[in-house]
Amino acid sequence: MVFHSQFNPVEVPNTDLVTLVFDAIDKVEYWKDINRPVSIDAETGKSITVGEFKQQVIEVAAGWQRKAGLKRGQVVAIISPNDIHYSTAIFGTLAAGGVVTPMNPAYTTSEVVHQLKDSGAQFAIVDPLLWDTLRPAFKQVGIPTSRVYTFPTANPSLSNPPRIPGSPSDLFTLRHPGPWQPVHFTAQELATTPAFLCYSSGTTGRSKGVITTHRNMVANVMQIHSYRQQGNEQAEGWIIAGVLPFYHIYGLNVLMHLPIIEGGSVVIVRKFDLLKFLSHIEKYRIDFAYLVPPIILGLTKHPAADKYDLSSLKGIISGAAPLPPALSEAVYKKLHFRVRQGFGMTETSAVSHLTSATSTDTEGVGVLLPLQEAKIIDEDGKELGVNQPGELCLRGPNITLGYLNNPEANRNAFLPDGFMRTGDVVYADENGTFYMYDRIKELIKYKGFQVAPAELEALLLSHPKVDDVVVVGAYDEEQVTEVPRAYVVLRGQRVPDDLKEYQATAKELSDFVNEKVASHKKLRGGVEFIKEVPKSPSGKTLRRIMREQARQSPTKP
Ligand code: AMP
Repeated sequence: MVFHSQFNPVEVPNTDLVTLVFDAIDKVEYWKDINRPVSIDAETGKSITVGEFKQQVIEVAAGWQRKAGLKRGQVVAIISPNDIHYSTAIFGTLAAGGVVTPMNPAYTTSEVVHQLKDSGAQFAIVDPLLWDTLRPAFKQVGIPTSRVYTFPTANPSLSNPPRIPGSPSDLFTLRHPGPWQPVHFTAQELATTPAFLCYSSGTTGRSKGVITTHRNMVANVMQIHSYRQQGNEQAEGWIIAGVLPFYHIYGLNVLMHLPIIEGGSVVIVRKFDLLKFLSHIEKYRIDFAYLVPPIILGLTKHPAADKYDLSSLKGIISGAAPLPPALSEAVYKKLHFRVRQGFGMTETSAVSHLTSATSTDTEGVGVLLPLQEAKIIDEDGKELGVNQPGELCLRGPNITLGYLNNPEANRNAFLPDGFMRTGDVVYADENGTFYMYDRIKELIKYKGFQVAPAELEALLLSHPKVDDVVVVGAYDEEQVTEVPRAYVVLRGQRVPDDLKEYQATAKELSDFVNEKVASHKKLRGGVEFIKEVPKSPSGKTLRRIMREQARQSPTKP
């Protein structure tokens, strides 16, 4: 059976993202005062008003077109921690007809190279403090420094941000009085033109560019907005915590697009620190926070949390990873409201399910947003009914157009009737609430960040002492997160003990990996040795067996 949303459909306007946002600035009551901030730097209090934001977007767009020569469809990589100018960088690029590929600023050079190459980026806007890592990456892919712009203030708490030699300097030098040539899209183009290329491993393999079209993001913003309106929720005027990273679709949607549409200001947090975050809630009287479970854990568990006045906080939505019901209860005890859950993926332009503001359920991940359809299928593709666990498949205007230049991944991801396989096993009850049951895709999530086992396995296989390997998620209950663990078959085990050059220690192998990857991919679940990797008769790794084993053995410090 097909599960339909219980909500009335919402009309998705035939506009691009820049028009959507500019229209909202003209129409939403909150923005009638053009001095209201779109974003505020949590550390310094420095802010960008909505009037400044709009002007900057227009001038940056004109600069891309008239000075930098950005052509429609060219890709700009944005590589920076959250920053008050991030939205100017994004919308300025989109307004010039560009496509944005936002990147994790913690990436190592080789990780940056992978995304730059794969996305075909030709320009970049970066935090100059990352230059040591980025310089060799740009060199390797052939992006000249003259095409690399820096964030205007870099870190606003630095009075004298570093400059990049040879770079035309900051994004604001790109500003041009115009005129800016707005880009026009037909309805067909809106549905097929990428606005963003965020990276996700999908159900298998290394990370891939997920094409989020203008229509995908416009639709998802409207789906969330309509869900709220139909539930009589009032979001206008909220001060929102901006801790989720903007390079991930969750932050990109709910912290950058949605608040402009609904009328709200975002307090930008560059680098998460629990105590500082608590002080920001108090200082800025933050109303609402979109978070991930490990941060929520800190809010409830840290002894210092009681010292801060968190009374302004009216709600929290948790997403990106499983929220243990006990944690939900702990929040209720402390803050007297229930954490709501959201479910989504990079491929759903962020959100497909949300629990309602009045729900007391602590286990479900929510009901379908307006226009979202779901199917739950068994291993043979047969459609299942209520309360029957199977793979979740989703259809709707927010579902990605597909993976960039990857017909094979697209063939595997999409069913003939347009539903996209999620790789998540769920069931839905009689009330239309969905519950997570298992994950059949390879993906591991460390604190909401994606870790693709295939990437770590490839690294380990490049080690001369490793014969075979499988990487799966183990669960760290203390930190309420999955952590990557490698099960390794050593070459040395096939030779006599005295051939020491074939032996390796767990530490040697985890160091080998950890120094080559961004922090969230580190083998925090450890390295364990096994005699062989379980395989099917056709030679396919049976990850399920190793996942089961990992589930049963606790993480080691
Ligand atoms: P990403 O593309 O990085 O957003 O990752 C998407 C995946 O995160 C989903 O396919 C799920 O496996 C997982 N996920 C997202 N939201 C939740 C949630 N509320 N509970 C459990 N897992 C989630």
